Amino acid sequence: MSQYTPEVNRYSASVKNSFAYDTAVHRWPAILTQVIDGLFRQSHELSSTGLASHKVAEARKIIEQVSRLKYELTHDLPLAPLDVTPSNATHFGTRCAPTTEAYDDILRSHQLTWFHSDWLFTECYLYRRLRLLFEKSNEWKDFDPFAISKDDAFRASGQGVYHSAMRLSEIVKIGAHQTSSPATYKTFQDMVYSSLWGNASDLSLLINADDAVLQKVQATTENERTAKIEHVVVNDIDKMWCAVHRMHNGRIDFVLDNAGFELMADMLLADFLLTLRGPVLCANEERSNEIASRIERVRMRIAEATKTASRQTQPHLLVVSKLHPPSDLMAAYVRSKQRHFGENYVQELVEKASVLPRDIHWHFIGGLQSNKAKHLAAVPNLYAVESVDSEKLAASLEKALAKPENERERAYSLLVYVQVNTSGEEGKSGVPSMMSAWESGTPKPPLMALAEDIILTCPHMRFKGLMTIGALANSRSSEHENPDFEALVTSRKYLADALAKDSEFQVKLKNASWWTPSGPVKQVYDDALSESKLALSMGMSADMRAAIEKGSTTVRIGSDCFGTRSTNSEASQVRAVEMDAWSKIPLVKEIVFHTKNMPWFVSVRKWG
Ligand SMILES: *Cc1c(COP(=O)(O)O)cnc(C)c1O
Repeated sequence: MSQYTPEVNRYSASVKNSFAYDTAVHRWPAILTQVIDGLFRQSHELSSTGLASHKVAEARKIIEQVSRLKYELTHDLPLAPLDVTPSNATHFGTRCAPTTEAYDDILRSHQLTWFHSDWLFTECYLYRRLRLLFEKSNEWKDFDPFAISKDDAFRASGQGVYHSAMRLSEIVKIGAHQTSSPATYKTFQDMVYSSLWGNASDLSLLINADDAVLQKVQATTENERTAKIEHVVVNDIDKMWCAVHRMHNGRIDFVLDNAGFELMADMLLADFLLTLRGPVLCANEERSNEIASRIERVRMRIAEATKTASRQTQPHLLVVSKLHPPSDLMAAYVRSKQRHFGENYVQELVEKASVLPRDIHWHFIGGLQSNKAKHLAAVPNLYAVESVDSEKLAASLEKALAKPENERERAYSLLVYVQVNTSGEEGKSGVPSMMSAWESGTPKPPLMALAEDIILTCPHMRFKGLMTIGALANSRSSEHENPDFEALVTSRKYLADALAKDSEFQVKLKNASWWTPSGPVKQVYDDALSESKLALSMGMSADMRAAIEKGSTTVRIGSDCFGTRSTNSEASQVRAVEMDAWSKIPLVKEIVFHTKNMPWFVSVRKWG
């Protein structure tokens, strides 16, 4: 109750100029008029039958009292106490609603008038005053004076009903909703706002509204809603979302709206909430322990190797999760706070990203066909593609990233590594190293050409450095020496030199004026192309140590973090089972509807 007292009202100081005030001034007398009208119509029907004359007489008495209330209101007279005597003591609610005595205490200790008081306080007061008049009667206790106009308003809400129903049917088509997807958040906002604006179509205000006005008030289209958000005084929708997000088989309680369009908007929101799905579950205890201790050991080994090599900074750990089920990744996410994961197959990455938390940074490290680039680019938290090896692939990625729907979801440029085939093995992806390109007499090494192409023609990507896998034999032969890592380090040095000396490229970069998602292009590459700034992604479970000694900036570790991998077909079966289980665990399992405390607002109306 205290939050409704005049002193602590968050906006009463400016209430005279506010939307709430305007609404109140127009709304309250209209509400009273409507009550009079509803009562009059009903009693008129009765009197024409010649029956129940005492009931008609009582209606006249109530009409008189409502008119007096309207006079008090329009003349801004003091708010009279509700005045409870045992005979008219009424139950406005049994749960958290303030008692009538609590109202009267405030009214007796403050000089409140209709328009010099807290709007919400007075709105509730108005309904109590009204309700008491009916409560005290003998014949009209259960009469709902708003029923006719509620039904009329609902009938006139055709457009709003149509829009909302269409939206929900689209949502249902999509099926389960991943709460980590930004699109789901937008839909949530949408549903909450339309449930909120649903209120605006309620009775009184719109008694004479035509369809166009009603449609505008109900704000069922996105533009209409955006325009109205500025009228929201306190908006906690983000907190609501956070709370929903943390649920698991949870329960949400609704205080239902009265009837008609408002009630429908509440039902739609409830329906939508039931479709929400959270992130997948962690692996079981034993498996989670295993993963956590494996990752811990890998991190320790990285720290040791960094120290032995007398390096200042540790390389990043990219946990390679290919062919492991989402629950394994979730264990690494929860227990080891791991956020960077590497995947080799487009379909697998896309599936996992759809069920795992949104703050994961996904790295794609596998062979990528240009025609699959669009699926990757649509993953909003795809962080890096480490396996770019042709201009054609870069162009496809850029094209997909530039699509408005992808661009909107991504705050930063996609990091791109050029994959180098340092071992020169046939059938291995990657461009030749700088040295082998020169040896074969190529005028401009493909690595250099590709790096320049990415920098100058792919504004949604950011050339970050080089990646290599290396020959298996080379990682087996020695723990410290590895010719492939040497070749990547040397390629980086020659690339940085060559880029610095390529005057045509430097002029183009200097004159580059476009913006990238990470800022102006010149700023992005300012000091980013020197040898010391270009990243080196090299080192896997078998050859991590040698890679760190050679200066790797990212090591990609799979088996040491998760153990041995199953085959492709086994892995996809396990994944399918988990995805299926996930789609069946709702965030919200139960919605409990509560009716409002006022008997009128509970009356069940037939729709249609
Ligand atoms: C699988 C894979 C890794 C991880 O290999 P492990 O030997 O399991 O550590 C690293 N990089 C790439 C490109 C991979 O495909």
